[in-house]
Amino acid sequence: MDHAADPSHPRYRSLLMRHRLEVAAKKGMLADSAMIAHGRGEAYDYLLGETTIPSADVAAQVALKALMQAEHPVLSVNGNVVALAGDEMLKLADKIGCPLEVNIFYRTPERMDALLTDLNERKEQLGLDVDILGANPDAVIPGLKGPRAKCEAKGILQADAILVPLEDGDRCEALVAMGKTVIVIDLNPLSRSSQRGSITIVDELSRCLENMLKMETEALTSLDSYDHMQTLQDALNAIVGGMQNKFSEAKE
Ligand code: ATP
Ligand code: MG
Repeated sequence: MDHAADPSHPRYRSLLMRHRLEVAAKKGMLADSAMIAHGRGEAYDYLLGETTIPSADVAAQVALKALMQAEHPVLSVNGNVVALAGDEMLKLADKIGCPLEVNIFYRTPERMDALLTDLNERKEQLGLDVDILGANPDAVIPGLKGPRAKCEAKGILQADAILVPLEDGDRCEALVAMGKTVIVIDLNPLSRSSQRGSITIVDELSRCLENMLKMETEALTSLDSYDHMQTLQDALNAIVGGMQNKFSEAKE
């Protein structure tokens, strides 16, 4: 990956993320559809200008505050999340003081092992004391069928606030139906997850996490000033409006 190794390349960050997915795929951490899901995200990020828009920054502050104030916060991770931002998710769990749970849509013992091993290696290297759950599912998310419903009683089942980056719409909805504050990170403001979540941050995962890790926890915006539908509309406006005069401006 020559390009990924060269930060001066205009698509460096995008190439780096692709490289991380390639490495994770080789380790058996990803579902077959992982690259497709990533591609959908990349397309939206291109249209967003690959930047954190102001409404996403506000949503991220609201989300961090909700997680810090929750009684049982938990961060849910899937294959793409571990591949793209495993270190950042562990650091965020450490900042909040909460567990992280591996919870994947296409659950096989091999993928679970690969993800848990990768996260435990990262945790060791970072020297963090974070609980990594998911190995011993003893509960189910009501309303979901099959292995995708499995979770841990002391993690996702009892959580009152849960961060679900790049989540599937069905599972997001099932978690909301359990009465949890569900925080979504998703570049597509039109996805079901984005719409059904309680708080949605329309931003690229690794960029969003770096932003949240830098935030001073004393001065965060609270949930009262968060308008869910307006936040999604703002993201859509940034995508559509930001493109409207793109080439006519270039001609001037
Ligand atoms: P839904 O099930 O919520 O309707 P979907 O079926 O369109 O969504 P999925 O394939 O379930 O999409 O999930 C992938 C989602 O993750 C997409 O909405 C995509 O925009 C988003 N996504 C992919 N990569 C990233 C990333 N790096 N950062 C943020 N979002 C991402
Ligand atoms: Mg989906």
